Amino acid sequence: MSNPIEISIIVPLYNEEPNVDQLFKRISSVLKPLNLTYEIICVDDGSRDNTLIKLIDYHQYYPEIKVIGLSRNFGKEIALTAGIDYAQGNAVIPIDADLQDPPELIIEMIAKWHEGYDVVYAKRRSRQGESFLKRLTADGFYRVISNMSRVSIPRDTGDFRLLDRQVVTALKKLPERNRFMKGLFAWVGFKQTAIIYDRLPRYQGKTKWNYWKLWNFALDGITSFSMVPLKIWSYVGVILSFFAFAYGIFLIVLTLVAGIDVPGYASLMVTVLFLGGIQLISLGVIGEYLGRVYEEVKERPLYLVRECYGVTPTKEIASSPINDPKSSY
Ligand code: UDP
Ligand code: MG
Repeated sequence: MSNPIEISIIVPLYNEEPNVDQLFKRISSVLKPLNLTYEIICVDDGSRDNTLIKLIDYHQYYPEIKVIGLSRNFGKEIALTAGIDYAQGNAVIPIDADLQDPPELIIEMIAKWHEGYDVVYAKRRSRQGESFLKRLTADGFYRVISNMSRVSIPRDTGDFRLLDRQVVTALKKLPERNRFMKGLFAWVGFKQTAIIYDRLPRYQGKTKWNYWKLWNFALDGITSFSMVPLKIWSYVGVILSFFAFAYGIFLIVLTLVAGIDVPGYASLMVTVLFLGGIQLISLGVIGEYLGRVYEEVKERPLYLVRECYGVTPTKEIASSPINDPKSSY
């Protein structure tokens, strides 16, 4: 069975109006000479500027550019998931709309894919245009998650990668609402390889990430790929009890041997406050997990499609009444 579409490029876009022209120019100048059949699936993640209108315009002239408009802003990870759900290609390549991921790399990815790799991810050599603090925090995050999780998430990789159809099928079987894509990509395994590139600064516009969002993103990543933060509290408890016991013995001996009535205000306060703090932290950690469990059990649809152009919903999407697209041609 041969699939007529070879490559699906997936672009999540949120307020990327100034980048759209350049993006398509660059992508098609890379793909046209390769003589492959391809589609570019643009997922508009509830943009508030004219991104969607512009995309629909493009679709009218170039049918290989397909558009999915989500009903609101769902976040990049969900937008990517929507794109992957609709993609038909034998290989799927998610790419950022801001041209931080150079489309020229696609050639190299396809070459590696033809060599037999299932996943070809692009690894950043440098992070130009990113502040020292961002690099430092990113570094810290990768260190923490690689120590805590059994899935090894490659450092300094984004979502820019090539995924073979087999991998896409596997990804679609992961039902979680919390889509930490980098982690999911790593979790599915398969034959993976990396190519190195220099990450450029954004072409136009501003990043949608601030430190608060990044912090929450990091928590999502850690909680969905590690239970260490949950389990650590039993050990902390054991260690603290041990110290408490030793201190208790010390106090008893002191009272018996030296016969002094121990004046304990300061030590009492310190102990009570310290333990109170520890307990609140551990409760907070449990809360982080519990909140995510709650999100999962609600089983809401991951995203809602408001309109789509040029894509045919795959079977499982078509069967869900909520995702029935308003218009499709
Ligand atoms: N993006 C999205 N939804 C969002 C935020 C971002 O679809 O809520 C898209 C954005 O349009 C871009 C990609 O995700 O194509 C990466 O976003 P950004 O450049 O802001 O992230 P950074 O490169 O700074 O990590
Ligand atoms: Mg970017």
